[in-house]
Amino acid sequence: MKAIMYHYVREHNTKYPNFRYLDIGNFRKQLDFFKEEFGFLSKQDWDKFTNSGIMPENPSQIILTFDDAMSCHFDYVFPELINRNLWGIFYIPTGPYQSGQILDVHKIHLLCGAFDGKELHDLLLQRINKEMIPDTRRKEFHSETYKDKEYIGVAEFKRILNYFISYKYRQNVIDNIAKTLSFEFPKNFYVKKENLKVMADKGMVLGSHTVDHPLMSKLSKTEQAEQIKSSFQFLDNIGCTDIKTYCHPYGGFHSFDKHTIDILHLEEVAYSFNVDSRDINENDFEQSKQYLPRYDCNEFDFGKAS
Ligand SMILES: [Zn+2]
Repeated sequence: MKAIMYHYVREHNTKYPNFRYLDIGNFRKQLDFFKEEFGFLSKQDWDKFTNSGIMPENPSQIILTFDDAMSCHFDYVFPELINRNLWGIFYIPTGPYQSGQILDVHKIHLLCGAFDGKELHDLLLQRINKEMIPDTRRKEFHSETYKDKEYIGVAEFKRILNYFISYKYRQNVIDNIAKTLSFEFPKNFYVKKENLKVMADKGMVLGSHTVDHPLMSKLSKTEQAEQIKSSFQFLDNIGCTDIKTYCHPYGGFHSFDKHTIDILHLEEVAYSFNVDSRDINENDFEQSKQYLPRYDCNEFDFGKAS
C-alpha cells in the first residue's frame, strides 16, 4: 500500500508569488493517474489492515493523507474526494482552534511565500543572538549556518526557525519580522471547526497532528504527552474520533523519539504516520504501527509544487 502525503492544494495567489503548493489542476491529474496506475484502497480494507494486519488483495493501492488542516482542504480537496467517491485522512493541529492564532510553522510558510528568501534571512539574523539558540544546538548552528556563505535563503530561514531557535523566542521573532515587512497574516487560514465535523460526517478520517505542531524530539516526555493527549481531547469534543490516528509533525525519524512512541501506545492510538519513502508492507503492522511510511506527493507524476 502506498500512503501519500499532501499539504497545500490550491490555486495561484498573486499575494504569495513564492508560495509552494500543489495546484488543484495537478491534484486532479494525480488522482486520475493513481486511479489508473494503482487504484485506491477502500476504507474497509484499510481498517482491516490497521486492526488486524490483514493485507488487501491488491497490495499497491493508494491511501490519501492531508496534513495541517489548511482551509484549502475543505475548499478544494474535500469536494474533489466526494466527487470521486474517495476518502482521505486529515491530520489536524488543534492549537489554532483554541488560540485563534496561526501556528509558527505556517507563519513561516506564508512569509516565505510572500517575500524573498535573502531578505527574510537577513531580517532573521538581525534578530537572533546566541542566547536564543540552546547550548546543545549552538555548535551545529554555527557550522551549518555559515557553511556556505554564498547560499543564503529560504532553506536557512526555515531551518533556523524550525530546528535551531529555542521555542521560547520563536513567535516573537517571527511576528517582529512580519511587522517590519508590514505583513498581515490571513484570517481563515484553517478549516473552520464546524467544517471539520462536516468532513468527518462525510466519511473523512480526522487524526491528531499535536496541538502546536512542534518538533516533538525537542520536547520533554511530559510536554509531548500534553501535545498528544489534548489534541485528541479536542477531536473527541467535536465528535471526530471514530479511530484514533496520529501523524508526526515534520516527519522523518529525527522528528520524534522513543517517548513519542511510548505515549502513542499508551494512548491506544491505532496507527500513526511518518514520512518515509516506501510502501506499507505486511511487517509494518507489527513493526512500525506508530510510524507507518508515507510518500510525499511530489514523488509521483503531477505532484510537483508550483
Ligand atoms: Zn504538519
